[in-house]
Amino acid sequence: MNQPDFIVVGAGSAGCVLTRRLAEEFNATVVVVEAPSTPAPIGDRQRPAHWIKLLKSGEDWDFPTEPTPSLAKRRLRWPRGRGIGGSSRINAMIWFPPTSRDLNRLADASGNHWSSDRILTALKSVESLLQPEEPRWLSEPSRTFLRAAQSLQNAKPMVYQRLNRRGQRTSLQSLLRPNREKARSWEDRIQVVRGMADRLIWTNEKVNGVELLTENGRAELVSRYGVILASGAIGTPTLLMRSGIGCRNALKEHGIGLRIEHLSVGKNLRDHLIMPVIYQRTSDADRFSPFGDLRHLVQWQTLGSGPLSSNLAECGGLFLNDAIQIHVTPTHYLTFPKEDSSAWMTIGANVTQPQSCGHLQLRSADPSEPPVITTNYLDQQQDLERSIQGVEYVRELANSGVFRDVISAEIVPGAKRITREAIARSVERYSQTLYHPIGTCAAGNHPEDAVDHRFRLRNSSGLWIVDGSVFPGITVGNPNATIMSLAWMAAEEITESR
Ligand SMILES: Cc1cc2nc3c(=O)[nH]c(=O)nc-3n(C[C@H](O)[C@H](O)[C@H](O)COP(=O)(O)OP(=O)(O)OC[C@H]3O[C@@H](n4cnc5c(N)ncnc54)[C@H](O)[C@@H]3O)c2cc1C
Repeated sequence: MNQPDFIVVGAGSAGCVLTRRLAEEFNATVVVVEAPSTPAPIGDRQRPAHWIKLLKSGEDWDFPTEPTPSLAKRRLRWPRGRGIGGSSRINAMIWFPPTSRDLNRLADASGNHWSSDRILTALKSVESLLQPEEPRWLSEPSRTFLRAAQSLQNAKPMVYQRLNRRGQRTSLQSLLRPNREKARSWEDRIQVVRGMADRLIWTNEKVNGVELLTENGRAELVSRYGVILASGAIGTPTLLMRSGIGCRNALKEHGIGLRIEHLSVGKNLRDHLIMPVIYQRTSDADRFSPFGDLRHLVQWQTLGSGPLSSNLAECGGLFLNDAIQIHVTPTHYLTFPKEDSSAWMTIGANVTQPQSCGHLQLRSADPSEPPVITTNYLDQQQDLERSIQGVEYVRELANSGVFRDVISAEIVPGAKRITREAIARSVERYSQTLYHPIGTCAAGNHPEDAVDHRFRLRNSSGLWIVDGSVFPGITVGNPNATIMSLAWMAAEEITESR
């Protein structure tokens, strides 16, 4: 391909959906730049229960966060996928469509340009491509939870749909690969280049290319209409900053000259924080063991079911009027899979709309250095209060009769930790990222918002942003379905505004 119409940086959830639609429906030629990665064993990539083994593998950026004061000064690791599929390559595969609150927020941020109808139509199109499916097997803790949650008020218990095909992780590679009848045209229109995009290239005040690091050294790619950043909530703002887009003083510290001042780039960083309530199990029935059992391997290979088809977080839902989301796992949330014991189960609760907000900064101008990630989790008192409420809610549920024969003791926070103060200390000590960083180049109507309703970076030409960084705030549930729906819609907006 000589000079493509567009360069898309990042072949993750958004990048793959966007590229597919640009090429298939709008006949655009696209070069997709994706960072190099070392593939994990194929079994770990295909078997849903093994996603946890992909963390810290050669497919994970494994970003360190700064110590967070309100998490007992802990430094968390933030997994982000690398390789075709991005975070969809290593994630827990839950397919959680946008809620009405998410839809309203997107409509508000775009002056109703991203209307609920448009996003739901986009969602349907993505679903018809990827066909998320119902789980083919549920562990005993999940089945018990669903029975217990049936009679609750203000509750929406859910068995999560998944991005799986016949019990196997769906690969987004299929979005970029031509199907048989269209093989020629597709091959001509999409090209994947492996390399680490370092910074943008401008010609006459218009962005038209990227400079990247490949295994053969530095290279430049140039396009006809411009560059679309789909590098995710961490990758996109840091690439912008290396290119001179951000806060003048912060860039100056790294010897980077200012191109466009955008104070909101890298700000508004949100994530869901999950507090695991962990129980010892009594029941011997249906012990969960997704590693090394030949019977389970045969069951998964022949039927796509059994423990290996579990995504670990099989069910949960929204509770307390959508204030809390729950994820149920048949494991010890804090030690699995290091200790592959089936004697535990976890009911984790997270605040769906945390008010605490973090930010990102460059550590250096070198693209191989991870950024400085300040999470500010639980910075706002109300997030801590809500997290405590989540633990109390889970306890009430677990103490209901349905769980009587299934669990014997609460291990974390531990039955002795009754007071709100004691629960608060446990929340600080044990809460974990739910892997949903988002919002670092948020779209909005105001001149200071980074991105407009056409997905253009404001005050720039030839530059669009399409990934989790544009979501204003944080989705109520797991964000992947919403991000992919936005990416589908973005193909249309970009074609019209190129
Ligand atoms: C472990 C884990 C579990 C999760 N579980 C779920 C779940 O069950 N359900 C759900 O809805 N969400 C889940 N998520 C979140 C969801 O997967 C992400 O929010 C979503 O995939 C983000 O999509 P994106 O397109 O914004 O970014 P990504 O999918 O992360 O894509 C960004 C891409 O850009 C590439 N890139 C970055 N920088 C550069 C550069 N400089 N040069 C070249 N390429 C670059 C990356 O390698 C990556 O491929 C999970 C995430 C993780 C990590």
